Amino acid sequence: DIKKETLGFQTEAKQLLHLMINSLYSNKEIFLRELISNASDAIDKLRFASLADESLLEGQGDFAIRVDVDKDANTITITDNGIGMTREEVIDHLGTIAKSGTAAFLENLTGDQKKDSQLIGQFGVGFYSAFIVADRVEVHTRKAGHDADAGVLWESHGESEFSIESLPRDTRGTSITLHLKPTATEFADDWRVRSVIKKYSDHIAVPVEMLQPATPPAPEGEETAEEAPEPQYEAVNEATALWTRPRAEITDDEYKAFYRHISHDYDDPLTWSHNKVEGKQEYTSLLYIPKRAPFDLWNREMARGLKLYVQRTFIMDEAEQFLPLYLRFVKGVVDSNDLPLNVSREILQRDSSVDAMRSALSKRVLDMLSKLAKKGGEDYATFWKEFGQVLKEGPAEDMANKEKIAKLLRFATTHTDQADQDQSLDEYVARMQEGQEKIYYVVAENFNTARKSPHLEVFRKKGIEVLLLTDRVDDWLMNQLQEFDGKPLQDVARGALDLQDDSEEGKAEQEKLEKESESLVERLTKVLGDSVSEVRPSARLTESPACLVVGDYDMGAQMRRILEAAGQ
Ligand code: ADP
Ligand code: MG
Repeated sequence: DIKKETLGFQTEAKQLLHLMINSLYSNKEIFLRELISNASDAIDKLRFASLADESLLEGQGDFAIRVDVDKDANTITITDNGIGMTREEVIDHLGTIAKSGTAAFLENLTGDQKKDSQLIGQFGVGFYSAFIVADRVEVHTRKAGHDADAGVLWESHGESEFSIESLPRDTRGTSITLHLKPTATEFADDWRVRSVIKKYSDHIAVPVEMLQPATPPAPEGEETAEEAPEPQYEAVNEATALWTRPRAEITDDEYKAFYRHISHDYDDPLTWSHNKVEGKQEYTSLLYIPKRAPFDLWNREMARGLKLYVQRTFIMDEAEQFLPLYLRFVKGVVDSNDLPLNVSREILQRDSSVDAMRSALSKRVLDMLSKLAKKGGEDYATFWKEFGQVLKEGPAEDMANKEKIAKLLRFATTHTDQADQDQSLDEYVARMQEGQEKIYYVVAENFNTARKSPHLEVFRKKGIEVLLLTDRVDDWLMNQLQEFDGKPLQDVARGALDLQDDSEEGKAEQEKLEKESESLVERLTKVLGDSVSEVRPSARLTESPACLVVGDYDMGAQMRRILEAAGQ
């Protein structure tokens, strides 16, 4: 049994620590949010574990987080009676095991202070944020259900190493003491700390307690009959799970603070939706749309899913079964009254009531988005810029909501001739010409190529609008959609266009064209041989001499490029 050992922080942990201390100094107070959030997680974990083994509670099931300040010692201490940590867990979690995504996160840094500090926010600053305000941190902890002898003291100055030693601890849980830097002494002040707790931790379901302010000494000359009573701990926060409260009683600020708590985002959410469902199934959901995409939105291992509670008891983070993949940017909480408390990820995968919730929650999100779109203003544009590409995966994944999703899509079109994707299919349809039966689109590598595509010439001439598609998924998206509002979607580079003039004059013109081109077509067919399947005269070009057209049932140009890139 090693008494005291000194260990080095894991390389990435070291980098992260350094970065945080140097980029977050202007937002020091968030350390308290992070440490209280960890304390609350630890209590959630113990509450959950005690469902299976009540002895873990050691006869003490009143959960609380306590915050003590000491002006003389210049310290602040955060104590919880949650699950605690073993020696190995302390070493792993507070020093040597990199959090998943740390490497990806570090790769995403730009060197721009402002951008990077936002990125740190998204990443979840966590325990190391203690070193924003402290030059020495002590963690004294003991795992629930273990002997007092299993207590551990971890200590670090936040540089390259930490020490760890055995130190008996009677009570289970964790106590973290921060020795404040000279620039952060404000956090040893009772009133300052109370206001920070109110700001960030009001909605946390466990009470966060501080000692009652000491009663002022009696005025001179007056004798006090009794000794002043010992100050008591009192809850500083509201301490009820936010989503369990009635909507009308929750302020926007409270909703926003709760969002920051569950998402680790610095920013406010774009919008949210809070609903209580009763009847065959009973559950409450609180769903948020963030303002910014996480740096790992395209990473398969990105953290996604909702926080799952069953009858107000925390069950798991990242419950992925409640939303489809194309809505992976949604953050939130779902609290079920029907699922068993011992529900596992495996059970969630098989449970049919989860499927029903998933489809109801998907609808909720889509409704929230159409509301956001209808509201007008910048918000929907912001959403589309950040998450539009992900939403485009929707029609393939969620056939049932294909039409709803289609209405949420935004495109660049020849109507505006701007690269901004801001036109809806409804708007396109409203502008369709009399007799126009199809919605036309062109797919290209980039906006300029799309805009200058020779396929567009005849459309421009006739004043028919064409969607300008340039995202990788677009070709595939159009194939999934097939039609909108009963109007087929037509790639202008595919098959024969039925744009010809049906009048007598028009027909005569076409015949004349075909006659005139006969020998040219013959020659071209010979020269091009097997490289093309057909050469035909066309009215689709007005300026360019020729263009390549893809057959109706052939693979789109973009799809072909994707397959080629994949070596097919
Ligand atoms: P995160 O909370 O995102 O996991 P943190 O850096 O905040 O990341 O914490 C790292 C880990 O340290 C936690 O996942 C947890 O295992 C452990 N930990 C931190 N604080 C506590 C605590 N008060 N009680 C028990 N475990 C804790
Ligand atoms: Mg944390």
